[in-house]
Amino acid sequence: MIKFACFCPHAPILIDEDDLSFKNEEIKETVSGIVKLRGCFEEENYDLVLVSSPHPEWGVEIPLRALYKDSGNIGQIFNYQEASKVEIEERGVYPILTSSGSIEDHFEWGRKLYRKIDKKWKVAYIASGDMSHTLKEDGPYGYDEVGVEFDERFLRYLKEKNIEGILSFDNRFLLKAGVCGIWSFGMCLGFLEETGINYQVEILSYQAPFGVGYLVCNFILDEERR
Ligand SMILES: [Zn+2]
Repeated sequence: MIKFACFCPHAPILIDEDDLSFKNEEIKETVSGIVKLRGCFEEENYDLVLVSSPHPEWGVEIPLRALYKDSGNIGQIFNYQEASKVEIEERGVYPILTSSGSIEDHFEWGRKLYRKIDKKWKVAYIASGDMSHTLKEDGPYGYDEVGVEFDERFLRYLKEKNIEGILSFDNRFLLKAGVCGIWSFGMCLGFLEETGINYQVEILSYQAPFGVGYLVCNFILDEERR
């Protein structure tokens, strides 16, 4: 049974030597958002933690370090698997690598993944990803107005739970906007859809101090099925 789901940014700057970068004023809202997310995450002991990410290593490690206050509790981390063919054998943490193919495919793979897992298990789904990387001239890829357009539209669709809108983004547009997280987010939304559980979208923070959109989003999950 799904007990937790979120979208979490994965910028290395979010973490200092041992915990969240509480002293960094520029990302204060993002860190506060993650602290709230951590509060929700820590309410359960999970049998299964799924972490989808467009990048290996930091893409998975940063959200795990952000959500587990004590990294000694993370448990066994399995090898990276491709989004299209995830196999779950036993309890633990499963990193899943997304591609920049079709978002609809990732949504379907998320649905398929839920059908494969043991429904008695307590499951957390962490969708690791950042929004546009072209929000500022001095950002990593410079400025492109489609970046701002993407972040605005995505946030609006998410608040409206407009899945069709989210799945409709064109890949050329996403490339121009320098987005990395949408395939991971799409897979998580497919997974949630397949659970049949009703949920509310709770945007905990959105900031882009360095030209990259950091979105922290929690999903408040109803116990009752639709
Ligand atoms: Zn990224």
